[in-house]
Amino acid sequence: MNNQLPPAHDWKLWIYTNYDCNLRCSYCVARSTPETPRRAIGLENVQRLVDEAVALGFSDLFLTGGEPTILDEIYAMIAYATPRIRTTLLTNAMLLHGKRMERLVECASPNLTIQVSLDGACAEDHDAYRGVGTWTKTVVGIEALLERGFHVRLSTTETPANTDHLTDICTFHERLGIPESDHFVRPMAQRGFAESGIEVNMLSLAPELTVDVDGIFWHPLSTDKDMQVSKCIFPLSSAVEQVKQNLDTIARTGKAPLMTFT
Ligand code: SF4
Repeated sequence: MNNQLPPAHDWKLWIYTNYDCNLRCSYCVARSTPETPRRAIGLENVQRLVDEAVALGFSDLFLTGGEPTILDEIYAMIAYATPRIRTTLLTNAMLLHGKRMERLVECASPNLTIQVSLDGACAEDHDAYRGVGTWTKTVVGIEALLERGFHVRLSTTETPANTDHLTDICTFHERLGIPESDHFVRPMAQRGFAESGIEVNMLSLAPELTVDVDGIFWHPLSTDKDMQVSKCIFPLSSAVEQVKQNLDTIARTGKAPLMTFT
């Protein structure tokens, strides 16, 4: 693969806002469950990260978790980010009703995309890895988002349960009015809770800087130690330099650098 840092205007910054989730998907790369410690990054850190990312020329911000909509602060994070940078909120959409939906509507912006995980056109395909009853609630959430005029993108994780029915998802989302350009499919990654899937590491993934409360990582598919590039979140520019150094090492040696953080 062409493992290089893209031009500055294509840089993506991912922020793990928290690690707890209303679900416990059996392939979750973040090991999220309702009992997982929150490890929230906090509004102030998000604001500073947005400012630094904008100054460095990053094109996109992704707020992920865990389930970000669990957080009371998520709306303030979105409201701060969207006037400054194209922003995507990742969610399972199951909690987006009532007060949460009202507060999200107050944050509506042409710069905001809501990315929802949907693994099937029927409950059987989606619920296999995400839990019984989740498909129905997610579809209700997607419909509610569309009704309120949000730009919705769908993300599908390909699993043994849905691999033979991926085209059904396309028919389904087109019926909802979501175009194919707003749907992507990625393979299951063997990280976190996943017992199978593709191997992902610094050699196989182009870097997309990812921040959590413990530091900066190579890619959002894993915040395991071997993917960490910095223990310090700030300044973001130092992590960008570290990523460039790692890419040089990979180009010279064909191996990912061994980085140890105490
Ligand atoms: S995959 Fe997403 S929805 Fe499922 S447990 Fe992990 S963070 Fe939650």
